[in-house]
Amino acid sequence: AGAGSWRAMPLVPGANLAADAESRGMLAVTNPADRRETVGRWQPADSATVEKALQNAVAAQPGWDATPAASRAAILEHAATLLEARMPQYMAMCTKEAGKTLSDGVAEVREAVDFLRYYAAQARKHFAVEALPGPTGESNTLQLAGRGVFVCISPWNFPLAIFMGQVAAALAAGNSVIAKPAEQTNLIGHAAVKLLHEAGIPEAVLQFLPGDGATVGAALTRDPRVAGVAFTGSTETARAINRALAGRESGAIAVLIAETGGQNALIADSSALPEQLVKDALSSAFTSAGQRCSAARVLFVQEDIADKVVHMLAGAMAELKVGDPGLLSTDVGPVIDADALALLEDHAAKMAKDATLIATATTDDSIEHGTFFAPRAWELKSLSQLTRENFGPALHVIRWKAEDLDQVVDTINATGFGLTLGIHSRIDESIDRIVQRAKVGNIYVNRNQIGAVVGVQPFGGQNLSGTGPKAGGPHYLPRFATEKTVTVNT
Ligand code: ADP
Repeated sequence: AGAGSWRAMPLVPGANLAADAESRGMLAVTNPADRRETVGRWQPADSATVEKALQNAVAAQPGWDATPAASRAAILEHAATLLEARMPQYMAMCTKEAGKTLSDGVAEVREAVDFLRYYAAQARKHFAVEALPGPTGESNTLQLAGRGVFVCISPWNFPLAIFMGQVAAALAAGNSVIAKPAEQTNLIGHAAVKLLHEAGIPEAVLQFLPGDGATVGAALTRDPRVAGVAFTGSTETARAINRALAGRESGAIAVLIAETGGQNALIADSSALPEQLVKDALSSAFTSAGQRCSAARVLFVQEDIADKVVHMLAGAMAELKVGDPGLLSTDVGPVIDADALALLEDHAAKMAKDATLIATATTDDSIEHGTFFAPRAWELKSLSQLTRENFGPALHVIRWKAEDLDQVVDTINATGFGLTLGIHSRIDESIDRIVQRAKVGNIYVNRNQIGAVVGVQPFGGQNLSGTGPKAGGPHYLPRFATEKTVTVNT
């Protein structure tokens, strides 16, 4: 990459290079499914590397901005074709570095391809010069241009799809980009950047800068040369980035596009079909080991059907296959790392005191060393028992009475998060009522509440869950650009 601080090793299953990596000051990446296999290594950028990357980005941006949008789009489309052809290799990386199951790996690569094509198409559309009506003797046009240097700060839970989506939009809009992936998924981020370079993005236009958030991320966001930040991660980090951008005493008033967490609920009334409800609750809560921003955390079930649903849920959870994400039969793989596991164990200890355990899925005996958390469900008295987003396979069930529907929605709104909401009901008036009242970004009715097809289901939340505009939607790309109005006296 442009900043040149990172060296990759090929993915060699079974190779143990940890000692070697440490001796060279590099950090080893271990497979979350066993915590023993080293799948690669990386080196955090130092402050000189950050400075060099910023200088490169500033110097390269005008040339990229002057490149016709159609040419930028063509490069992204070429990258999509390359990525599609290499799906198995990228899927394998998602499994080895991020613990993704095979079906998650396919979806991840697919979504990255879709983002590349969608933002390419959006660039062609939005960057066309638009003639505006005006008085005679004058011509008025509106056109978009890149803002300048964009920093993309990405999470580990969609290490390819979200990373690629942010970067593709920023590039398509004519910005130079510094991409900082999450500490946990540098190998995938690096491979994505190499692919974009191969497709034709100049190295200085897209630079890869690995490092931890508090040093490299913070150094980038407080730098006045940065015109915008695309961020996906926690609400606290979004606030820290907002403060860093706001605290700058020179440079542009930067734009922040943030997608953050959720405390997502699923509301089921007594007209819901229990089989379908349980199936959708299970996939919403436990797909990707619950490590999706969209995942269902709380199932509000109307009391008339609650006993039946809880019983069926426990039965279905017992069937979940938890284990090696590289096996086709596995439903739930490991969580990302030891810190994530510790937070979930902590939560389970708290729930053991305050809540009733409904079910624990059993983990495969062959799992000894990986960071696995067996999916669990608890019954709670009230939502206030959850004080934070539990980012993993943990579901909570709360019963409600028919007359309390509005109150249920208000309680969910009162968390401040507003990302996804599931509704299971056959009563149109109840569905409409919930849709109208809920302060959330994505609502899914009588289906699971995960997954957002690019260009079809624009995704993103409100309030504590993010700033918008929605990823994969028509307003996302223009936010990465600035507008120029040209008035000519004819
Ligand atoms: P998560 O809880 O999902 O790991 P984080 O918000 O901690 O979410 O991380 C998301 C991304 O934000 C990562 O790439 C991380 O390195 C980065 N990050 C963390 N802290 C900061 C910060 N203070 N400034 C900029 N980026 C940060």
